[in-house]
Amino acid sequence: AAATNIVLSATELTKEFKGFLAVNNVHLSIREGSIHALIGPNGAGKTTCFNLLTKFLQPTRGRIVFRGEDITRLKPAEIARRGIVRSFQISAVFPNLSVLDNVRIALQRPGRLATQFWRPDTALNVLNARAEELVEQVGLQAFIRHQAGELPYGRKRALELATTLALEPDVMLLDEPMAGMAHEDIGQIAALIRRAAVGRTVVMVEHNLHVVEDLCDQVTVLQRGEILAEGNYDSVSRDPRVREAYMGQ
Ligand code: ADP
Repeated sequence: AAATNIVLSATELTKEFKGFLAVNNVHLSIREGSIHALIGPNGAGKTTCFNLLTKFLQPTRGRIVFRGEDITRLKPAEIARRGIVRSFQISAVFPNLSVLDNVRIALQRPGRLATQFWRPDTALNVLNARAEELVEQVGLQAFIRHQAGELPYGRKRALELATTLALEPDVMLLDEPMAGMAHEDIGQIAALIRRAAVGRTVVMVEHNLHVVEDLCDQVTVLQRGEILAEGNYDSVSRDPRVREAYMGQ
């Protein structure tokens, strides 16, 4: 039963930019524990949807509900405190600091856990242990003392994932986690995401359909701001409208 609980939903989600409907009346139901992909041709409205869900943009119309609470009017920081966490871009990684220090800093960001590390009784030991655990979880043990700025690209994405996991996300939103990655790194990051997704929900924008097929339980296909199809990968990939939308690219 838990698998079909809806953790995050959007109804009539609409975003207008000066009369242009980037997202038009979109309904999304994100199942608890699922890895849910948003796909679609360029300009389909995926990034806008993503920004609406994390409140980086205010919707023109519509409602977003997280675990029964209307979060439509909340600010990004309030969303993060509830456990809806967006992956940080590589630009948010401090290049002159070590991998470990980057994760330690992430653990102290205002979020669900941060306050516990400021309590003197638990402070440093807990923080350090948790940071090392996260470094290990994303396969960066060998790089733990390396400067983040010197990591190869794929390893930086892994570090980005660790800093996201540091916030203990309930729902984790990943914006093109494979973007710019070499083919051989993609499988590795996919494996990390699969592991990181255990016990949480993941929403991801992804261009690479092999990754979507391999990783995602649910797929929403957007086109021109509207939902073209949704379901599991097999059903949407067979949908003639989806095939047409992708062939047009
Ligand atoms: P996708 O991520 O699927 O490629 P986007 O959500 O980035 O699509 O964009 C959807 C549409 O909205 C595009 O036509 C884009 O040009 C337009 N758009 C996105 N952001 C803005 C903005 N801030 N102002 C005006 N138009 C925008």
